[in-house]
Amino acid sequence: MSALTGKRALVTGANAGIGQAIAVALSQAGADVICAGRSSSAETVALTGGTELRLDFADAMAARDAFSGDPVDILVNNAGIIRRADAVDFTESDWDDVMDTNLKALFFTSQAFARAVMARGATGKIVNIASLLSFQGGIRVPSYTASKHGVAGLTKILANEWAARGINVNAIAPGYIATANTEALRADPERSKAILDRIPAGRWGRPEDIAGTAVFLSSPAADYIHGAVLNVDGGWLAR
Ligand code: NDP
Repeated sequence: MSALTGKRALVTGANAGIGQAIAVALSQAGADVICAGRSSSAETVALTGGTELRLDFADAMAARDAFSGDPVDILVNNAGIIRRADAVDFTESDWDDVMDTNLKALFFTSQAFARAVMARGATGKIVNIASLLSFQGGIRVPSYTASKHGVAGLTKILANEWAARGINVNAIAPGYIATANTEALRADPERSKAILDRIPAGRWGRPEDIAGTAVFLSSPAADYIHGAVLNVDGGWLAR
């Protein structure tokens, strides 16, 4: 029997990149997977044999409705966006879009999940996808950095409140991972080389590198881990 057999997991932003890899790995570990997102997750549904839930996580209150159906045991808050501009030029809409999706939706989705788990007297796991920019400043990404610092902080406060209620709340802080999100960086030879030169492991991360950690944090092996933000970054923060 696999570690997650009999568990139902909901992954936000499951149609591509890190979210898709996590959905696939959770299903390989035995979980039934709900692929939640605003775009079609048809490919991930085909890969996982899971189900699709169309939800726009820019609307935190709509996202809360994700738990009105069958019981969910594992929530992976992966959906996220980035907007790039100098701080002096940064617009209110770029601020709000990022904070609504990356932070507000993550909080209210977690709240709805926790309420549902507690109401049925069950246990649950939340895995938040944070970032290197949960610890560092970054450049030209003020709302993203603020939101990801917020994800690390929320991971700790929610772990603190919910550990005694049987819910593990943890986060993964990915380094530079080769997804659509980082395509522009990888296409720029100078920036790409500068990043690669700074990664002790000597390569960009793959979505699967994050997926394995998400499975671990979702499994009974991680039952005593609460409020951790695990760096999966090829050693970037160790430098
Ligand atoms: P992608 O852009 O490939 O994936 C982002 C996912 O989030 C997509 O599935 C996207 O759906 C979804 N999403 C965005 N906005 C919404 C929304 N309003 N409602 C529902 N779904 C939404 O990027 P990654 O896979 O790289 O990113 C996944 C997570 O990992 C993000 O939280 C990101 O911040 C984080 N991360 C990524 C790093 C990297 O180097 N790639 C490094 C550190 C953290 P859609 O296709 O519909 O837009």
